[in-house]
Amino acid sequence: MARTHPGRDHVAARPCWRCRACGAPWPCAPAKLALLDQFAGHSVARAFFMAARLEEAIADAVELGQKPDVAALTERFTQWVREARRARSGGGDSDASSQHTAAPRLD
Ligand SMILES: [Zn+2]
Repeated sequence: MARTHPGRDHVAARPCWRCRACGAPWPCAPAKLALLDQFAGHSVARAFFMAARLEEAIADAVELGQKPDVAALTERFTQWVREARRARSGGGDSDASSQHTAAPRLD
């Protein structure tokens, strides 16, 4: 009974941080799309959200007695957020925010 919906079903199973729907390392591609949609126009909030998840993933790994690869986890959890922001500021299509086009740029 593996139902794969685009969107909310692609959530992380803790403490392994694999997707509950597809089993891929979280955030999987559908999870990223859902997060882009969920935080459309709020890329800073999305970055904070992912930073918090990163911290939880590292803490979970430590709690399991593992030695987390912090650099790899940081890239996995936050790199795509930066790429999405870059794509957006370059007129990209992955984080189109039609509601808040007048958001100030901090960089
Ligand atoms: Zn998934």
